[in-house]
Amino acid sequence: MAINTVKNPAVVVIGAGMTGILMGIKLREAGIDQVTILEKADKVGGTWRENTYPGVACDVPAHMYTYSFQGNPEWRHRFAHGDEIQAYFEKISGEYGITGRVRFNESVDQCHYRDGQWYLTTSKGNELVADFVIAATGILHHPAYPDIQGLDSFTGALFHTARWDHSVDLRGKRVGIIGTGSTAAQVISEISKTAGHLTIFQRTPQWVLGVPDKIYGEHDKARLRGNQPLMDKLRERYAWLMRNTFTEAVSSGGWRHALLSWRVKRHLRKSVRDPALRARLTPDYKVGCKRLIFSSTFYAAVQRPNVTLETAGIERISASGVATRDGADHQLDVLVLATGFHPFNFMRPMDLTGRGGLSIDQAWSRKVQAYRSVCLPGFPNFFLMLGPNSPVGNYSVIAMSEVQGDYVLKLIDQWRQGQLQEVEATEEAKTRFNDYLKQGMGSTAWVGGCQSWYLDADGVPALWPYSWNQWVREMAEPVMDDFHRAGPAWCMPGQPAEKAA
Ligand code: NAP
Repeated sequence: MAINTVKNPAVVVIGAGMTGILMGIKLREAGIDQVTILEKADKVGGTWRENTYPGVACDVPAHMYTYSFQGNPEWRHRFAHGDEIQAYFEKISGEYGITGRVRFNESVDQCHYRDGQWYLTTSKGNELVADFVIAATGILHHPAYPDIQGLDSFTGALFHTARWDHSVDLRGKRVGIIGTGSTAAQVISEISKTAGHLTIFQRTPQWVLGVPDKIYGEHDKARLRGNQPLMDKLRERYAWLMRNTFTEAVSSGGWRHALLSWRVKRHLRKSVRDPALRARLTPDYKVGCKRLIFSSTFYAAVQRPNVTLETAGIERISASGVATRDGADHQLDVLVLATGFHPFNFMRPMDLTGRGGLSIDQAWSRKVQAYRSVCLPGFPNFFLMLGPNSPVGNYSVIAMSEVQGDYVLKLIDQWRQGQLQEVEATEEAKTRFNDYLKQGMGSTAWVGGCQSWYLDADGVPALWPYSWNQWVREMAEPVMDDFHRAGPAWCMPGQPAEKAA
């Protein structure tokens, strides 16, 4: 008779966005059935549930922006729109039995590590005990509101792009938008079609790569239906393209960066004929320093007759509009804040403490860092999906999450096999890893003379500076010397742990 020597951990996954769904599926496939997924909202989908602004889309090609194990023949656009992506995640989550396991409208308020286990308290006052916690809380989900004098005094409609107020009809209205990042470029392209007048308050111009969208018809979809190998081929083709034309260009420079720069500058030259306007749209930093904008509609939108590009700088906001430094007063009915996110908050403001009561704020008081993006010294058996230095340029975060998910499962597996009781990266390993990252930053475009959400308080980019292949290689197997190894296994043969999450 086979003796079951494998421990079955109780795992809590925080968040049911793209990574939370993924981890739910992976854990289940690994035979781990004590999994609780907590989601603060009433639906899965994360960023795609929250961002419903006009024009919302993904600038990573749709056939690459899918889980590798489940392509989607139903994409309608090469750059899928937000509602298509939300539908994809809802479908996958349902089909893989994840939705039924999610506790919706329940966020984690407290999460404390004591005596080898995690103790969680939720917003509903429920208490959970877990062997492992996986924070799948996402990167860009804390909206950043600009610190501009008078912001609160505006009496028209005012909202952040991630909190779009769909009750406000923009047709014929005087609309202002602050920001010209990836989000703003999409919003501007869309709302400039209907707004009475749109004023774009640009603080810093952006480089824009003109990549046309494509609509997939019934014929395209029919070819893909039931044909996962063909979808795999398509995903790999786009992934190859993204790596070679973009990811490599921004991380290692060289001829690829020169080519990318040429394409981007040509797009600006060809799209904007007025030299004065073109000058105001021309950045003074390296291409790819800020996240490159993929749009073939942005420049056309800026040049619509009902659109004004305002570059004088905002002086203050009043009850009726925005005053700029050149003395102009822009009267507005609606003001949209496309001002981005706080990227270094991650799972905070959760009250999270690790070994010996170490809080996450203490651990990150000097710098927000992790070991291999997913492990935090002082926080055993805790993993952070898409943590610091995860992003690889404009590459698909789904691909990154899959690699991280496999890495996490390998570590959990060591615990299950009784090879260790706690999985905790050492402080030295974290420091070594971050020194290694820093060494690679010099050749990236992200230190190319701009301010961006990529940079931490010391001006160091929180991205992966090497190639995608190198990242995959280095994440393939955990280097166990980089982890504390706590004591011998306590789980005896035939006595799998039974802890209800
Ligand atoms: P963002 O890139 O951080 O851009 C924020 C914009 O707001 C910038 O133009 C910034 O100007 C401006 N801004 C901020 N505070 C301001 C102030 N006080 N006064 C004037 N202007 C101010 O944010 P985002 O556009 O929301 O994009 C964030 C990230 O989300 C992207 O980089 C991307 O990773 C992700 N995203 C992805 C997609 C996609 O298609 N996959 C789409 C949207 C977003 P400065 O440049 O001068 O700082």
